[in-house]
Amino acid sequence: MTDTVVIAEISKGKVSPTTNELISAANILGTDCTLVIPCTDSSLADQASNISGVAKIIAAKSSVFTNYDASGWAQALDSVAPQGIIVTAASAQSKDLAARIAARRNVSVVQDVISIDGTTLSTPIYSGKAIENVAINGNVVVSIRPNVFPGVSNDGSCDIQVIDASGDLSTAVKELVERASTRLDVSEANIIISGGRGMGSPDNFSHLEEIADTLGAAVGASRAAVDTWDDIPHSMQVGQTGKTVNPNLYIAVGISGAIQHLAGMRSSKYIVAINKDADAPIFQYADYGIVSTWEEALPVLSSALSNMLS
Ligand SMILES: Cc1cc2nc3c(=O)[nH]c(=O)nc-3n(C[C@H](O)[C@H](O)[C@H](O)COP(=O)(O)OP(=O)(O)OC[C@H]3O[C@@H](n4cnc5c(N)ncnc54)[C@H](O)[C@@H]3O)c2cc1C
Repeated sequence: MTDTVVIAEISKGKVSPTTNELISAANILGTDCTLVIPCTDSSLADQASNISGVAKIIAAKSSVFTNYDASGWAQALDSVAPQGIIVTAASAQSKDLAARIAARRNVSVVQDVISIDGTTLSTPIYSGKAIENVAINGNVVVSIRPNVFPGVSNDGSCDIQVIDASGDLSTAVKELVERASTRLDVSEANIIISGGRGMGSPDNFSHLEEIADTLGAAVGASRAAVDTWDDIPHSMQVGQTGKTVNPNLYIAVGISGAIQHLAGMRSSKYIVAINKDADAPIFQYADYGIVSTWEEALPVLSSALSNMLS
């Protein structure tokens, strides 16, 4: 079987638990998994030293990893990652990286994989309306949808090899100015509460934030909300042209359930919809539906959750 190389998913300066899921997928795809951790300080790799299911851990150290830049990251990672099937997360950034690494190595890329059966990989297409089965042969780059594969445990032990990945890089991002936000990103959350145009105004998203704070959830939005209100950033958009999410619980508030929105969230484990229109398409996909205005439903939900969790 082919060797595998997992590129660790880094989030907010930490090795994300998604990495454990990537290793589990890599161990189905091949053998002798090497975990490559992009970092500016090799101590970041210490967080992964007890991860199980890996034969080797490489801390790829370079200043290029300070800010994301597809070209620089792909060049640096390509220089240290051994040959084999490369596995990344199917986050927006890592799908971009997967394609760049595949181009550098002149191999195929299979994006957003949700199941693996031998050498056949399944990936949703046409906004999730169909599943494509792709047969792979030899080295490829594969991105794995988060929250689909079970993660390996953290009871292993593996030495860490630090490799300088600085090399002769052609591009590097000098500075990244982020919009100040302390909120959890939708792509990292296990629980998401999203608002649509039915919220009426961006100020009303504060009601969703209140519930998100109680549940430890992220706040998302439909494209109509993002397009209509400048205060709702594109980074919150869930759907075909936004982020694909796969949380345990997705609460859709004032969202009609257009096919393009469903494309990004319908694989959520449980879907709860709050909509005043009983015929809204979202109810066809919801596990629990509340036919009501959010003005009526959210205060009740909020106080029930507070009582439950206090
Ligand atoms: C190429 C393309 C890509 C797209 N990509 C995306 C994407 O990535 N993500 C995305 O979301 N959309 C996407 N869209 C847009 C999509 O087609 C819909 O227009 C959009 O999802 C609608 O958003 P919405 O449900 O918030 O708004 P609406 O369709 O206007 O629905 C609002 C809902 O709120 C309900 N409502 C109103 N008032 C209340 C109230 N007080 N209480 C409770 N419910 C209330 C209404 O009954 C209605 O169902 C895309 C479209 C195209 C063409």
